[in-house]
Amino acid sequence: MAVVLAVAAFVGMEALVYVSHRFLMHGPGMPIHKSHHQRRPEPGFEANDFYPLMGSAVAMSAFAVGLNVGGLAPLVPMAVGLTLYGAAYFFVHDVYIHRRLPWFGAEVPVLERLKEAHRIHHLWAGEPYGMLFPVVPAALRQRAAEVDYDPFPPSGGRRSALARGSAPSQVPAER
Ligand SMILES: [Zn+2]
Ligand SMILES: [Zn+2]
Repeated sequence: MAVVLAVAAFVGMEALVYVSHRFLMHGPGMPIHKSHHQRRPEPGFEANDFYPLMGSAVAMSAFAVGLNVGGLAPLVPMAVGLTLYGAAYFFVHDVYIHRRLPWFGAEVPVLERLKEAHRIHHLWAGEPYGMLFPVVPAALRQRAAEVDYDPFPPSGGRRSALARGSAPSQVPAER
């Protein structure tokens, strides 16, 4: 049962991320989220980091309540799923795709597919809003294939672009 709850929380998080990314972050939350869609001179924190911070606050609260309040123990495996999702998101989005930290330089085919999907999000600040299971309409994929622009530092070569601080980690805001 605990494993089912953890997996459900993990998968459910992707749906929650889709909805909040599309309707909150690209809606009333855009003043904060736009920091992630702008070209920045060098790596560092961005205002958008507020959102994952809120996610971790929710997970930590769920752990605290689940571990201390009788009858609410199922919150613990759900918090585990939420935390694993957050860690996977951080690795895929911040480490692998945007290379904000020089932790991983290898090219992984399945992650390259997620990277291409996220490139499309950054090209037009639209679909796909999902991260680990992004759904990209075929027409959109076709349109993106005709655009050369890659907002991310190149794959392969540990520390390369990040260490030089030469490649913008964000797509320009104008589109
Ligand atoms: Zn991004
Ligand atoms: Zn966005």
